[in-house]
Amino acid sequence: MIKPFPKPIYVTRPFLPPLDQFSAGLEEIWNNRWLTNDGPILKRFTGQLCNAFETDNLCLFNNGTLALQIALQGMEISGEVITTPFTFVATTHALFWNKIRPVFVDIEPDYYTLDPEKVEAAITPWTTAILATHVYGHPCKLNKLADIARRHNLKLIYDAAHTFGVTVDNKSIAHFGDLSMFSFHATKLFHSLEGGMVIFKDAGLKSRFDYLKNFGFKNEVEVVMPGTNAKMNEMQALMGIQVLGYLDEIIEKRSRIAALYRDGLKDVPGVRLVPPLAHEIKYNYAYMPAEIDEQEFGMDREALYKKLIEWNVFTRRYFYPLVCDYACYRSVTVNGPLTVARRVADRILTLPIYDSLDLSDVEAICEIIRSIQTAKAGALSANMASTGQ
Ligand SMILES: *Cc1c(COP(=O)(O)O)cnc(C)c1O
Repeated sequence: MIKPFPKPIYVTRPFLPPLDQFSAGLEEIWNNRWLTNDGPILKRFTGQLCNAFETDNLCLFNNGTLALQIALQGMEISGEVITTPFTFVATTHALFWNKIRPVFVDIEPDYYTLDPEKVEAAITPWTTAILATHVYGHPCKLNKLADIARRHNLKLIYDAAHTFGVTVDNKSIAHFGDLSMFSFHATKLFHSLEGGMVIFKDAGLKSRFDYLKNFGFKNEVEVVMPGTNAKMNEMQALMGIQVLGYLDEIIEKRSRIAALYRDGLKDVPGVRLVPPLAHEIKYNYAYMPAEIDEQEFGMDREALYKKLIEWNVFTRRYFYPLVCDYACYRSVTVNGPLTVARRVADRILTLPIYDSLDLSDVEAICEIIRSIQTAKAGALSANMASTGQ
């Protein structure tokens, strides 16, 4: 008999380096007495990331949202931007804060990224850019979007918040499009407590981003643009450096968890997992999305979400509601009926996945989902028999 978990299992738990390792790093900060403003640890972290991503066109921020906001401002994006409703709300907020009109178009049904055909159909004379999310770490249709952007002279910007560590043909996902934003928030698979990064093609943007994140200061007496404060501090950089050292292990453990879910859920009726990613993609297992088909499963996503809480399993309905359905965006342009996005948002559940999750717990979660389905299917058929259907 499977029993509810004695303690809650959440959808994620942040990775932490060993405490003594972090303490040793803190001693360095205490000795330096340099806490923020381009300190020595931030410089080291930046250098490591420049090496890892093989570029100098990289800029760090105190979080991903401000990184994206500043990127849009620095690139002087204006007018309309075509974007996805199936993302975290910050993707759209970054547009709004720059007085850019978001235009929502539908996603494709396999990996839930922007549907290139819908993007092309939504282009108007005011369109200046495409802002696409590699949702769950699944790369967007990179070639098709690049082709559309080139033909229509649009900037192509990626919300790559979920894609740290993902490569395509051995090339980092950061090198597709004009700019990619990464989030190092505590709940992401790679984190620096909070943090953000942009990687971009045009080297000329670097100084603009550096000014914009530090009040526009060029030197002690010159302010060259109205910037804001979005600097990463030494404590964040320290965490980032230390977590980076464990990245391969973290991804490896997540890949084993994902494989167990695939195995454990493969013949549960009404549970659909995304198709395996193309062989040229090295995935990071950032999330474990599952679509629940009410007919086949015997209950809908909402019911399963609530049922799992009784078992102490806290899944998340990322990304429900769609961004365009939040009160603050209801008046925004929606291009087409968003059929796929609506269906997915109503059916999606993201399952617990994090490096410290026990493999036996993953097996138990699969068993629980299977038993819920079996019990429901049994009850339905008993019900149909008694009513003579
Ligand atoms: C987390 C996230 C962000 C925001 O990043 P923060 O670092 O939390 O500000 C933006 N877009 C997506 C898709 C995210 O998941």
